[in-house]
Amino acid sequence: MNDKNKRSKRRHKTNTKKEKTKKILINSKNFDTLKDPRKIGVAFSTHNATCSCHMCGNPRKFDNKKTIQEIKNEYQISEET
Ligand SMILES: [Zn+2]
Repeated sequence: MNDKNKRSKRRHKTNTKKEKTKKILINSKNFDTLKDPRKIGVAFSTHNATCSCHMCGNPRKFDNKKTIQEIKNEYQISEET
């Protein structure tokens, strides 16, 4: 695969992700952000996370607690055995 092909694929992926970001912003009724293309780019680059406070963030990062996904996984494993 040559470099031109890689670049076009990468740009295509970026554009599709930005389109998905726009859809998420429309569904969350965040219309002010949609008017500014720079804000769409920021939302895309931050993976649509509105904030990273201790209440919304990963509990392992802030309190050394297990995440919901990890708790669910442990529960499923204990249920199977
Ligand atoms: Zn928050």
